Formats: sequence, structure tokens, C-alpha cells
Amino acid sequence: MKYEKNTLSQALFNQYDDKKLVAADKAHYMHCFHIFDDHRENGALNIAAGNGAYIYDTHGRRYLDAVGGMWCTNIGLGREEMADAIAEQVRLLAYSNPFCDMANDKAIELSAKLAELAPGDLNHVFLTTGGSTAVDTAYRLVQFYQGCRGKPEKKQVISRKNAYHGSTFLTMSLGGKAADRSPEFDYLQDGIHHLSCPNPYRAPQGMDEAAFLDYLVKEFEDKILEIGADKVAAFFAEPISASGGVIIPPKGYHKRMWEVCQKYDLLYISDEVVTSFGRLGAFFASKEVFDVQPDIITTAKGLTSGYLPLGACIFSERIWDVIAEPGKGRCFAHGFTYSGHPVSAVCALKNIEILQRENLLEHAKQVGGYLEQQLATLKDLPLVGDVRCKKLMACVEFVKDKQSKELFPAEINIGEKIHSKAQERGLLVRPIIHLNVMSPPLTITYQQVDEIVETLREVIVQTAAELK
Ligand code: PLP
Repeated sequence: MKYEKNTLSQALFNQYDDKKLVAADKAHYMHCFHIFDDHRENGALNIAAGNGAYIYDTHGRRYLDAVGGMWCTNIGLGREEMADAIAEQVRLLAYSNPFCDMANDKAIELSAKLAELAPGDLNHVFLTTGGSTAVDTAYRLVQFYQGCRGKPEKKQVISRKNAYHGSTFLTMSLGGKAADRSPEFDYLQDGIHHLSCPNPYRAPQGMDEAAFLDYLVKEFEDKILEIGADKVAAFFAEPISASGGVIIPPKGYHKRMWEVCQKYDLLYISDEVVTSFGRLGAFFASKEVFDVQPDIITTAKGLTSGYLPLGACIFSERIWDVIAEPGKGRCFAHGFTYSGHPVSAVCALKNIEILQRENLLEHAKQVGGYLEQQLATLKDLPLVGDVRCKKLMACVEFVKDKQSKELFPAEINIGEKIHSKAQERGLLVRPIIHLNVMSPPLTITYQQVDEIVETLREVIVQTAAELK
């Protein structure tokens, strides 16, 4: 693969006063989702630089980042042309008010580009600050749409257990990851319902994939009928649940769920915050990979490859025609100071240009296929219950007993054990309790895939021996 190289000199790393940095981190910087005791005792891996698929800590140690930041560094880090594009826009126009009758050319250009790339008639774009705010926007848009079309009772929504849609109050309520639902928090209960997680590996005993699919579809239909179709507005789903453990649903699942949505007049919202911009080999996976035409797509992450924060809620003509009906004088009372930020918009446009020019979606398909094949060779190792991989989204699930699929007790911290051993060898794979997930940059090479798989193999064998 061809991408520009940053020259990293040791002088860069010599400037860090590590003691001071670690003390300040512990004293002042509250991390996302970090166990306080772990932070207090062990601090953090402090990253100073990045180039392609590699990141460097403040000591100058290099890691192959198989996590791709947080599912997001699609074009790889350290691109000079991206730095130039961002700097140029900062000089020209660093900020522009996105409210009411104000706009800027870059936000307009990006909206038109997203409308061109999104499937079918998803021609209208609301730009946000990230993934959570894109999903929040979709939820509010669903309510607004149903209200505008004279169905104020049709506002309840259905999501799935083990889904992750973000960290705002609303998106956490919409999500269904048990591990995130600690009792100290309150969640929005009214009007949000959760279906089973479509994980074939954890299907009820005795159910093959086809029977499991029928079960999931029936559960959905039963739930709609139980609530009343006139009260249910929408179904929210990630094409492949990312943080829930790369849950690849049974074949045909999304199509069948979409058909149920059409039958009962529900909007289908595809949360593509992770699955878009090439991770599955397509700009948007809903249509191209899962053959579904959503009413709304939410995206973020790979939209800018993580160079700057940005999200988008892309929606259909059908919704637009209702909410913006001429002569009604309506306004969608919703917006963020940084909606349509011109620098983030330039960043997304440059990102799309690079993805297209370097044919990175095709590369992701090819190298992702190779990752699928190679990771599958880990299945026979001890501890490995399941290996799930679709293109550049991957996960290894660890179990205490391969037959019964029983998990290790939480205190064994199996995902963390694997992760820290891999980290010692210069590889980052993200631990989520009993899982390790991966989502490398689209620029990943075949050789780097081999490095990931061989390092994991070594670390799993070693961990299994230690746990005996
Ligand atoms: N939706 C999905 C599917 C995600 O995976 C995430 C983040 O991981 C979000 C939404 C939230 O995005 P953000 O962290 O940018 O708010």
C-alpha cells in the first residue's frame, strides 16, 4: 500500500517528562470507560505519535494498532496531505455558524457528497459532532417525522440487547450492553424496547442458524404486536454490532427485519458509525453488504478516519417530504454549535478523496478476506470459543470450556490478559471483558495481518498454559 510516511525522530520522544505526564494523567484526566483503580495503579499507555497502522508511545515504542484507534483510523495516521488540507481550511475559515440561515461551502459540499454515496434516496444530511449525536439526531428525527405526519402516538422504538449506539443519556438507553448498564445510572425506560442479540454463537441450544433467524424475526413481530404497530416508530440496528463483540447476525437477518419494518410502517435506522467508509469494503454496508435500504443511516468515525470529530445523520426523501412540507413553516429545533464545522467537513472530503483515489475499499475487501481466513486458524486453539470476522471487523471470544461455552469468571479478566501480553509484543487488540476486538486501518498490509494473527496465536497458547 502506498501512503506517505512521517519521519519520527528520537528527539520527539526525548522531550517527554514521563513522570510528570503520568502524575498529571492520574490527577486530572478522566478516561472514557477506564476502571478507576486500574488507572490509579497502572496509569495508561500514553501515545505520542502515529503513522499508518502504527502508533508510538511517549518512550518511542511502536505498536501495530489492530484496533484502528477506536474503529476509526481508516486511511491510517500521519497523512501529510490531510494535515495540509486541515491547516489550509483553518487559515481560510476555522469556524462558521451552522444555525438558521447560515451555512458554509464545505458543509454543503460534504452533504452533497454524502447524498451521492449513500444508497437510494438518502439525500438529506444533518451533520453532527460524532456518532452519539448522530444517533441522538436520528431518534429525534424519527419522533419529529411521526409527529409531522399526524402520528404523535407512534413514537416508541425497538433496539437490541448488546447493541452500542453511543454514550449520551439517550444513546445509552437505546444501547443494550449489560456491562455498560451499571445501577448508579438511570436510563430512559419509556418507549425503548430491546430484542435478543442476533449472535449465532450464543443462539438458544439446539437452534441452527436458520431456526435462530426465524426465532429473531418472530420475536420482532411479536414485540410490535404486543406494543401495537400504531405506537412503534422505528427499529435501530448496527449492521454488525461492533462494541457488542462483532456480532455477525444470521444470513438474511437484516433483510427480514427490514421487511417486518415495511409491513408495520416502521422506519429502519442503520447505525453505520463503524461499518461505513470502507470497514466492510463499501462506503455504506446496509445496501451493498446486507441488501437493505434504510430510511436513516448514522455515520461517524471512518467519515474522517478519526482526524477530526464529525458525524452525520443521512435520511430519505420520504422523511424530508413530510417534515419540510411546503407552507407548513416548520423547523427541526435541533443543532450543535459544531454541526457542519468547515474544518471537519474538509477533513471528511479529503478522507473520501483518499479512500477513492487509493482504491482502499477494494483493498479492504481483499485484505479483509485474508484476515477472515487467517483468524479462522485460531479456532482450534485452547480458550478460543469463537472467531468472528467480516472484512476489517474482527473479534476473538474466549471461553473456559469450549464444549459448554462457559465463560471465565470476571476476575480472570481474560480479554485484558491477552491484550496486555500482545501489547508487550507490540500489538494492540482491544479487550472487552472476555473478547478481543480488532478493526485495523484499511491500509493494513497482508504482512501486518500475518503479524496480528501470529502474535495472537503465541499469546493465546501462552495464556492457556498459564491458566492450566
Ligand atoms: N454507534 C456505534 C455503532 C458505535 O460503535 C459508536 C461508538 O463506538 C457510537 C454510535 C458512538 O459514537 P461516538 O463515540 O463518536 O459518539
